Amino acid sequence: MGFFDAPALNHHEQVVFGYDEETGLKAIIAIHNTSLGPALGGCRVWNYESEDDALRDVLRLSEGMTYKSALAGLNLGGGKSVIIGRVQEIGNEAAFRAFGRLVDSLGGRYVAAEDVNTTPQMMEWVSEETEYVAGLDPEMGGSGDPSPFTAYGTFVGIKSAANKAWGSDSLEGKTVAVQGLGHVGMYLVKHLSEAGAKVVVADIKEDKVKEMLKYKNVSAVESDAIYDVSMDIFAPCALGSVVNDNTIDRLKCRVIAGAANNILSDYDKHGKILLDRGVLYAPDYAINAGGVINVYGEFEGYNEKRSYSRVNHIYDVLQEIFKRSEDDGIPTMDAADILAEERLRKIGRLKQMRRSGKRLFSKI
Ligand code: NAD
Repeated sequence: MGFFDAPALNHHEQVVFGYDEETGLKAIIAIHNTSLGPALGGCRVWNYESEDDALRDVLRLSEGMTYKSALAGLNLGGGKSVIIGRVQEIGNEAAFRAFGRLVDSLGGRYVAAEDVNTTPQMMEWVSEETEYVAGLDPEMGGSGDPSPFTAYGTFVGIKSAANKAWGSDSLEGKTVAVQGLGHVGMYLVKHLSEAGAKVVVADIKEDKVKEMLKYKNVSAVESDAIYDVSMDIFAPCALGSVVNDNTIDRLKCRVIAGAANNILSDYDKHGKILLDRGVLYAPDYAINAGGVINVYGEFEGYNEKRSYSRVNHIYDVLQEIFKRSEDDGIPTMDAADILAEERLRKIGRLKQMRRSGKRLFSKI
């Protein structure tokens, strides 16, 4: 099959391959869709087994960013980049400046940010070569660590799901099981505890668990036991694919709502099972959009207060998703995709018309 026939290419606008012999940089930038705005997406360093794997990953991730930003109501398109190699070898100034030049060559169609295995320092190197980089440290004029915003958005999303499930968004007395106490999980636990929830936590790192026990109403279980906890809400904040054939029957909860990406290992299959069982699933890319919403603020002059207020919008987005899912009898993930596509069509079309100088309404 030729490159242009690859199913993963799925409507991508542009894919750019960058190679720098001197530094050994091998990078791919995928721009999925810019109809709502510049394609913002993280830059990931990964030692892929093959270049095909790298290409597949970057295409999948950039498409995901289009949907995430569209659904969050942002004027951003979807893109992503990957740098192939080990971070110990490629994570240096020369390679990242070469990457910065590649980003710059796209003239703002793609805006890079931090992702798996990239650091604020690396993004600072990128920024030496291009202005099209976001999420820098506050000292550099950026919006800093997105995790507190992702955590707050997840908290707001959990309240929205609670409202749908029980008719009230109070978490007082509700048991929430939080899996993973990293950058996002640790802030989420604090919000939940302050809201009066009973929080059960698990992490493979003991020190992280200990740290959380200082909050009110927080207890811990061994990491694998989290699936069997008697809980109202399961909040996965560690890895993807944690709702799978082995765990789905163990989960006795009414709501699944957490920050992790790709929570369901098979969206069609597990989404349908959850729907049939009456388990409300908050689609991951809707509930974990707090970070990208925060970064978006940089495009208009960053203001932390405004970011937090925008993140509150996740509550309403989820209500819309739950309603569409109920009205159409479809899994929430499908409802989220439909709503994102609707916005892309409606608003993206308006933007395109404006860009090409056409008037939206001609004078009669
Ligand atoms: P992180 O790496 O800081 O934290 C992950 C935590 O999960 C770590 O403490 C790790 O020890 C723990 N963990 C790993 N395996 C585990 C297991 N089997 N059981 C229990 N705990 C386990 O990551 P993060 O930034 O907190 O992100 C968490 C999730 O949210 C990821 O899936 C990430 O892709 C997603 N996400 C994060 C952001 C963000 O702003 N950081 C934004 C969107 C989505």
